[in-house]
Amino acid sequence: MFSRIWTKKSTENYSEGIGKLAEAVKEADAVVIGAGSGLSASAGLTYSGERFEKYFGDFIAKYHIRDMYSGGFYPYPALEEYWAWWSRHIYYNRYVDAPKPVYQALYDVVKGKDYFVLTTNVDHQFQKAGFDKKRLFYTQGDYGLWQCSRPCHQKTYDNEDAIRKMISEQRDMKIPAELIPKCPVCGAPMTMNLRCDNTFVQDEGWYAASERYEDFIRRPRTVEYGKTMAKSSGTIRQLISPLASLPL
Ligand SMILES: [Zn+2]
Repeated sequence: MFSRIWTKKSTENYSEGIGKLAEAVKEADAVVIGAGSGLSASAGLTYSGERFEKYFGDFIAKYHIRDMYSGGFYPYPALEEYWAWWSRHIYYNRYVDAPKPVYQALYDVVKGKDYFVLTTNVDHQFQKAGFDKKRLFYTQGDYGLWQCSRPCHQKTYDNEDAIRKMISEQRDMKIPAELIPKCPVCGAPMTMNLRCDNTFVQDEGWYAASERYEDFIRRPRTVEYGKTMAKSSGTIRQLISPLASLPL
């Protein structure tokens, strides 16, 4: 009974919030989208449950790993096994299409507008859905890029061909030793270009995206839009909070 009342109220609040958001987007001449992992989860890119069990059943059986997120931190005994895990993780979250067209639906809402996306997601789904690369700032990296693990230089490398090869050639939870990626400069193991600690490489593309975002939010009309949104929704206000500190 309590649950029913709560659900009804929650749904009403949700619908009201969506209505306000739709109205604000319609009226705005510029849109800033702040997106985190919830958006990818809603597109079906879930890190646990059926999808996880389907692609990582052998790792679950051997190491009792609970979900894709924690599996990325497991201390695998050999790099062959480590890359068997990571190639699957990257492939199924970055190179295959998401189960549901949530990103495409979002793109349909903003494609005629002056928009910019600021995201902590590293799965490339915005670009796959058609968002303009020049209007995206992936602040935390990209599963599709590698970097030197030391790192000895500030550059990232596209990994698609290597990942596809690891997927097709892995056997018994191991990739062939010759496929283990090494830094072309110093020979150290490569690693994902993900912001986990202070070894994260911010390459030219990262700085270019950062500058484009700065340019975008400093345009006066965008500031006005940010203020409109700040009044309409708590969640959105949180997402665009950096705008609140901008001068008028
Ligand atoms: Zn290196």
